[in-house]
Amino acid sequence: MNGIEQLCPNCGLCCDSTLFADVELRAGDDARRLKKLGLTLEKKGQGKLAFAQPCACYDGKLCGIYHDRPRRCRTFECGLLKRVEANAMTAGAALKTISAAKVQAEKVRGLLRSLGQRDEKMALTHRYAAAMSAPIDLSDAGNAERHGELMLAVNDLMKRLERDFLR
Ligand code: SF4
Ligand code: SF4
Repeated sequence: MNGIEQLCPNCGLCCDSTLFADVELRAGDDARRLKKLGLTLEKKGQGKLAFAQPCACYDGKLCGIYHDRPRRCRTFECGLLKRVEANAMTAGAALKTISAAKVQAEKVRGLLRSLGQRDEKMALTHRYAAAMSAPIDLSDAGNAERHGELMLAVNDLMKRLERDFLR
């Protein structure tokens, strides 16, 4: 079993918007076919096309268009995957890190929901920005506290993603 088979079905953080808010198409991607397969493409500066995350083709475990996925998805390898493939880390250790990151991401999502930000189709960073820009309800003492907790939880998650997945 290779690193992708061992790790990715237990993870999905690069498809569910935890790591990325969107994915840009690259030269050679067939935009028309990708649209037919279910991706909604939008213009993103300098004539580039991108689709938003959480990806419409992610079923919560696997990529629904794996054999037709865009180039960026084909070429992306997170830090954990690179280390497992290079035998610099065991798959077991990587799976533990994935589990911990998912718990942290779920904590952020739970706090977002508790603050009224329930749009699960919006990327995590956009949901965070929306929640933080909403006025704090001063009549609810818990509201300010949850904003503080959210900031800390996002900070911890970002540190984890930066350290373990993005390098
Ligand atoms: S973040 Fe890494 S381990 Fe997780 S699904 Fe993406 S490539 Fe696989
Ligand atoms: S196309 Fe597939 S691999 Fe790419 S983000 Fe969507 S679910 Fe993930």
